[in-house]
Amino acid sequence: MKPRLLAALAAAALCCAPVSGRAQVQPLAPPGPAGSTLLRPARVFDALSAEAREGWVVLVTGDRIAAVGSAASVTVPAGAKTIELPGATLLPGLIEGHSHLFLHPYNETSWNDQVLHESLAERVARAVVHARETLMAGFTTTRDLGTEGAGYSDVGLKQAIEKGVVPGPRILTSTRAIVAKGAYGPSGFDPRWEIPQGAEEAGNPDELEKVVRDQIGKGADWVKLYGDYHVGPAGDVPTFLQDEMKRAVEVAGSLGRPVAVHAMTAEGMRRAALAGATTIEHGDEGTPEVFRLMARLGICYIPTLAATYAVSTYRGWQPGTAEPAAILRKRQSFKDALQSAVPICMGGDVGVFAHGQNALEMELMAQYGMAPAQVLLSATAVSARHFGLDGQLGTIRPGLLADLVAVDGDPTRDIAAVRNVRFVMKGGVVYRSAR
Ligand SMILES: [Zn+2]
Repeated sequence: MKPRLLAALAAAALCCAPVSGRAQVQPLAPPGPAGSTLLRPARVFDALSAEAREGWVVLVTGDRIAAVGSAASVTVPAGAKTIELPGATLLPGLIEGHSHLFLHPYNETSWNDQVLHESLAERVARAVVHARETLMAGFTTTRDLGTEGAGYSDVGLKQAIEKGVVPGPRILTSTRAIVAKGAYGPSGFDPRWEIPQGAEEAGNPDELEKVVRDQIGKGADWVKLYGDYHVGPAGDVPTFLQDEMKRAVEVAGSLGRPVAVHAMTAEGMRRAALAGATTIEHGDEGTPEVFRLMARLGICYIPTLAATYAVSTYRGWQPGTAEPAAILRKRQSFKDALQSAVPICMGGDVGVFAHGQNALEMELMAQYGMAPAQVLLSATAVSARHFGLDGQLGTIRPGLLADLVAVDGDPTRDIAAVRNVRFVMKGGVVYRSAR
């Protein structure tokens, strides 16, 4: 028997034995390229001071950041390649906190029609394009909060990206997401018909637990619950009981998965917070009290300002004219959130609007009252902390994965500069370089 075959057989035998004394954590990235690269931008965004540091450089070795600091302080190994980025600001790879890679803008095709009429093959083909657009826009990580009827395709897409089959961001998956039975869409059909839903239904606490376990078993990094929904004439109403959500959070937590809860109403948010959610999405009707509760419990708020903005334009609103009630309410809840000091992670619900336009959320955060440097932290270090990526991503520090983005201009002064993406590196691999 050839030694190589013997080694393979030994490895195969190992695969089925219990592994003890070692965390079975999947690596976030395949091994990166060999060699070192020195990046010389005009400035580097430093998450610790929330400032752009003029004249700093970053040394990348393999897939990791090896050094960062003033040019004089960084020792460059012989043979290192240099990439000049004059006029640009180097940022940690941006993190999208709330995406739907398997959806495209509703003014192209309604959500109902995407879920019911588009074939799975078409939806996957679109998601491959969306993943590339996300990465090229400087978002090297995305937390994808539900395939909306496209099954477990996010798990397969993530694997294809990790294997280098197609370019895309690192994906935190949540697979099908979970709704209370009868509380989601597509709806409005004759009750004789069983209509496929945009998320997996759970009709009682035991079913909910089963669905949580099933989705995790099939590859969910996060569990996504719909904590309320517009069911019937009263508008948005809480759908899961607090105890039901609590049990789902406990089961997920036992399996090492955090929970994200969609909640528009103050009561849905309150239940999610007390149930132990890690993040709460949307919060349109959030009150100062509920944001303070979230702040006290350390739960991250994901405002999704851009989704409301986009949907308002689809309904005929023209930016620059008087803002509709939905946007005014969003401005108020965002202001209340800022005043409560709740941590805010950046997430726009991209997919409702075009992938690659993720920066719209950052522009709106600044427009609605957040300082540009805080917006940058929200899309990098703050999200990394709340998404369990601390020590791997979110800041530019030696030892972290080399996910780095250069944009022309200085986004700490004008956040719109994040749209001027000039260079994208993920895990030490350059995906986009100078125009
Ligand atoms: Zn969403």
